Parts: sequence; C-alpha cells; structure tokens
Amino acid sequence: MVQFNDALHILKAYFGYDSFRDGQADLIKSSLKQENTLGIMPTGGGKSICYQIPGILLDGTAVIISPLISLMKDQVDALETYGVKATFINSSLDKETYMTRMRAIQEGAYDFVYVAPERFDHEWFFNVIQSIKISFIAFDEAHCISQWGHDFRPSYRSIIHRIQQLHHVPFMMALTATATPEVIRDIQHLLQISVDHTINTGFRRENLHFHLLKGQDKSTFITDYVKNHTQESGIIYCPTRKTVEQVHGLLIKKGFKAAYYHAGLSEDKRILEQNRFISDERTIMVATNAFGMGIDKSNVRYVIHHSMPMNIEAYYQEAGRAGRDGEPSDCILMYNPQDVQLQKFLIEQSKLDDEKKQLEYKKLQAMINYCHTNQCLLVYMLDYFNDQFSKDDCMHCSNCTDTTERTDRTVDAQKVFSCVIRMNQRFGATLTAKVLKGSKDQKVRQFKFDQLSTYGLLKHLTEKQIVQFIHLLIAEGYLSPGEGQYPTLKLTEKAVKVLKEHAPVWLKTPVVKEAAVTDYNAT
Ligand code: ADP
Repeated sequence: MVQFNDALHILKAYFGYDSFRDGQADLIKSSLKQENTLGIMPTGGGKSICYQIPGILLDGTAVIISPLISLMKDQVDALETYGVKATFINSSLDKETYMTRMRAIQEGAYDFVYVAPERFDHEWFFNVIQSIKISFIAFDEAHCISQWGHDFRPSYRSIIHRIQQLHHVPFMMALTATATPEVIRDIQHLLQISVDHTINTGFRRENLHFHLLKGQDKSTFITDYVKNHTQESGIIYCPTRKTVEQVHGLLIKKGFKAAYYHAGLSEDKRILEQNRFISDERTIMVATNAFGMGIDKSNVRYVIHHSMPMNIEAYYQEAGRAGRDGEPSDCILMYNPQDVQLQKFLIEQSKLDDEKKQLEYKKLQAMINYCHTNQCLLVYMLDYFNDQFSKDDCMHCSNCTDTTERTDRTVDAQKVFSCVIRMNQRFGATLTAKVLKGSKDQKVRQFKFDQLSTYGLLKHLTEKQIVQFIHLLIAEGYLSPGEGQYPTLKLTEKAVKVLKEHAPVWLKTPVVKEAAVTDYNAT
C-alpha cells in the first residue's frame, strides 16, 4: 500500500521540491486512496505534479488525456529527464514510431501515456488499454469536458462512455484552472466525482497586477510598454489573426524581438514561432487565443490584451499565463467599446443553439462589467468564479490604485433610472443616453422620447459620458442589461432603493477620453 510519505519522498527525489503547495497534498492523498478526484487550482499552481506523483507511485500505466500535442511532448520530455518512463501517442508520429510505442505500451513499459481524447476511438489503442494494467486515467484541462466551459471540446466528452466500458480503471483524476460552478458540477457529474474529493484551492493570484486601460491609442501603448520591458518576456493577445499580423508587423518594424502565432499558420510555422518564444530568442509573443494552453513558460512578466476577450474565464486563464513563477507580473486589458461589437458578432456567427448563445451573452456582459466596475479587479473576478476564499482587495490593480475620489452621483443616477422607467425598460444604453442628453436623433423623435420629462436631464454631460455612466451603473448592479444581442436596461432592487429611499450612490467617475482607434498603416 502506497503511503503519503512516499509522495513526499518522490517530490524531493524526482522534482527537487521540499514541500507541497496549497492543494497538492490533498489531491495526491485522495488519488492514492484511489478515489475519483477533481483538482481546481490556478494556472501555475502545480497541477501536473498532482497526477505525476501518483503515476510514479502506483502500479500500472497512467493514461493522461491532454488537449494539445505540444503539451504532451513537453510533459513527456520533462518526465524523461527525471528518469520516468513516459511516452505520448498522437497523429504527429510516423507509422514506425507509432507501432513501436504501441507495442511497448502493450508490454507495460511506461508509467505514463499521454494521448489526445480522439485516440480512444482507435480500436487498436482501445484494445491495448483494455489489456494492460492501468493505474488511473487523468483529464488535464478538464474544463474542456464541459459544454459550459469556454473551451468545450466535444471529443473530450464523447470519450467518457468509452472509458466507462473499461472496467479495470481504478479511478480517474480531473484537473483544471478554470471552473465556474456550472463547469465544476458538470465535471463532477460526468466523471462521478464527489464533493468530498473535489479540491479547490481558489483562484487568487496575488502576484498578478491587473490593469484596465481605456481610451489609449493601442499601438502607442504597446510599443511604449515593450520598449520599457525589453529584458522581459510577454504575451500580447489579439482578437483576430489580422490584428496579430498587424501588431507583430509593427513591433518587428520597430526592431523588437517578436514572435507570432495563430491558427492560420502551418503547424511547422506555429511550432517554430512557439519555440522562439519559449527559448527566449524572441521575448514577445503576439497571438490569438490559439496560443498558450499548456505552455509552461514560467517567466512571462506581462500579458497584454489588445481587446476585450469574450468572457472572464478566457481572460483569467490567458492573463494567468503571466507570473507562473510567482513573481509580480502585469496583466493589462485595453478596452474599447467597439470590442463589444466584435464579441457579439462572434457569438452571432457561432453555431451555438439559442440557449448557449444566451449564456455566452450573459458571460460577455460580466466581461463588459469588468471593464466598468469600480471594484478591485481581482476580487471582481474571484466573485465571478464564486471563489469562497480571501476577498480582500488586492491593493495593486488599477482600480485599487486609482486615486480618483468617489463623488455623490445619487441625483444623476436617479435621473438615469427615471428615464429608463419612462422608456418602459425596453431600450439599451445608447438610446437612453441620447434621451438624457436631449438629442434630436431620429429614433428619439420617432418614439416621442423628446416629450418625456427626463429628456435632456443630463445635457451638461457628453453622450459618451452618459453611456459610460450607464455602464458603470450596470457594473455596480443598479441596472440589469438583460440578456441577448440587444440589451434592454432594467432597474434592479438596488436602483429602486435609490429612487424610493434615496439610498446614496457614490462612484468614481473619471473624465471620459475619446477611445482612440489605431491605424496600423500609418504607424
Ligand atoms: P499548472 O499545470 O497548474 O499550471 P504546473 O504543473 O506547470 O502548473 O506547475 C507550475 C510550476 O510550479 C512548474 O514549474 C512546477 O515545477 C512548479 N511546482 C509545482 N509544484 C511545486 C512545489 N510543490 N514546489 C515548488 N514548485 C512547484
């Protein structure tokens, strides 16, 4: 019977570490008892060791299901350097290597076999797995199982019934850095993992400094930032392949050492660019979200998002690729209201059914609220993940360090709420702002909103400032934007209290700058 002390011994003897990090010991204990186990830890929390140590200690071969070919190879190489017998099987192998490896697996030669989920559909592989001693099956990046996750992979889910046909698998493990309550429940249900064997260390990453930038010229900011951080590695995430190429082109033109990566490049090119970045030959990686999952580069000092991502899960995971070594690192999001249109367009274009689209809109709204809230940015995201752990403000995000004083905006808020009511709570922020501004816009006249008593009540502000203020009221929970492509503002209980009981509204409302749009051809 393997004891927990053996795990401590392996930690030191193989990996060279003295003690377990938060959550690792509990995960390993649960797996050594052969219980189905789920581990939720932040990126860089040290999930790999949680299945590698049991895999080394327990008899038989551990099958690790992993979504990415590059990830498998890195993990196998790392294990081999520790003298552990590990291999991977995927479509990149030539026939001869494949045959040799499969025979060796059949002979039980490996402690670890890394595979992509699709491999379970291959009869030979399935039969071999059925015929050998298995120590356990682990799902890395387990959120890919859940259709509620931001990175759902149908192949991850469809193999579950195949695995259930294998009656000799003692237990399963699932590991993820991203799990909203729905995703956690889904994984628990699909892999039959009890709450008692779910180890959640929380998501808090104290070393990450979140910053939100509004109204800056994006290319100027990026070039200035990288110029001041030439000795450091960083990732710049862009929303489209075209933007990747534009930003990359700009940085190369200015003499920076930048690599780039998106799904439109050939596999060879992607591997080349990735390796350039990993080996520090190029310090900057400009990429779409196709880059990064499973990349073990611990010294990434900054992650800049050129535009707002589609939801908080994606943002926290991508930003979380900074600072895996625990050192202070910047996570910068450059927000422009136009980003919202792009994300809505992507949701509309997707093949999701209506129910899933609504869910995506809801998640998008939470992301938009992040870009407007006055709250600590880290705490906002931890709340989103329903993280029950420490809720203290981080004191180093751009909201915590913002010295703008809160001002009493009760009267302005009441004007907005009254206007929303008079418009029958059926319109969005843009039209509401026009009415409050006293605009002569055709739509305003068409609906006879110029006859409302609230028409022009905020005419001392610009239309943009009013829109911004409405977004802040949404982010702070006074207004609900509803769901869907065309949000319609509705009052929440909190707003009703402001109207009826004069509950005060104190907010930080900085001066709004015009959002700049970069012309890459001109730079
Ligand atoms: P994750 O998969 O959770 O993102 P990794 O498993 O890649 O994280 O681990 C991140 C880094 O932390 C790796 O460099 C790993 O070697 C290191 N690490 C893991 N466990 C420990 C530990 N107990 N003590 C010190 N470093 C650790």
